Amino acid sequence: MSTEDGPPASEKPCPICSKPAVAKYRPFCSGRCADVDLHRWLSGAYAIPVTENDDEDGEEPSLAPKPPRES
Ligand SMILES: [Zn+2]
Repeated sequence: MSTEDGPPASEKPCPICSKPAVAKYRPFCSGRCADVDLHRWLSGAYAIPVTENDDEDGEEPSLAPKPPRES
């Protein structure tokens, strides 16, 4: 009677809003919070300058389609 119902000690709260996490979205309480966390992560990732330079020739506009060379 003196025990208040709350999240079990084994269940960690949502790191976003501190609500009890749901097994489906662990460790988050909902898909929304998972999305928020993902967005934060992506925002940090976007801060890093990405160089898309897979081509050896660089950014040379090749009008003629080159056959894919493997090794
Ligand atoms: Zn949450």
